[in-house]
Amino acid sequence: MQDVAKFYGLQMNHSGMACCPFHDDRTPSLKVYDDHFYCFGCGATGDCTGFTAKLFGIPQIEAAKKISYDFGLDLFNGEIAVPVNPRLKSENDFHVWLRNANLAVSEYLSKLNEWRKIYAPKNQWEQLHPLFVESLKRTDYVEYLSDLLAHGSDKEKKLYYKENGNDIKKIQERLEKLAAEVRPVKRKAI
Ligand SMILES: [Zn+2]
Repeated sequence: MQDVAKFYGLQMNHSGMACCPFHDDRTPSLKVYDDHFYCFGCGATGDCTGFTAKLFGIPQIEAAKKISYDFGLDLFNGEIAVPVNPRLKSENDFHVWLRNANLAVSEYLSKLNEWRKIYAPKNQWEQLHPLFVESLKRTDYVEYLSDLLAHGSDKEKKLYYKENGNDIKKIQERLEKLAAEVRPVKRKAI
């Protein structure tokens, strides 16, 4: 059950609690057990097939096929169910986005804070290091993002996702570029 919930984008904390995707949930009220889930907020419950069926708005049998396909279980000769409920599909996209946003923002913020210390000019005449400048320019905004993702309501996060969700992509691209820069140069093939 936990593997399935995680795979389809549910963010669980260390005690297996998550914000419920089946009602407008501000604090985690859905508990994922080994073989079923239960929401203390709206009472939604079921096993992993039930969860998947509800999440994608598809019948149980289609959900079973989807799990079989997504997890490579091959129980139905490769048949795959197609999500038919667009609202819940976008709900799932949001949760995937949120997980990536959390990772990218916390990584970038820790880099910005590090650069602020490492590359601080020693005196007023020294030319500013580009990474120090980047830290000056972006820390406020990234701190705001980090705060929003950690303490904002679901509604606030969804609004941000809708209007400025692409900023996270820019942060991810920046992180990828940084990672590429520090990678050792490969020897050329002769
Ligand atoms: Zn619920």
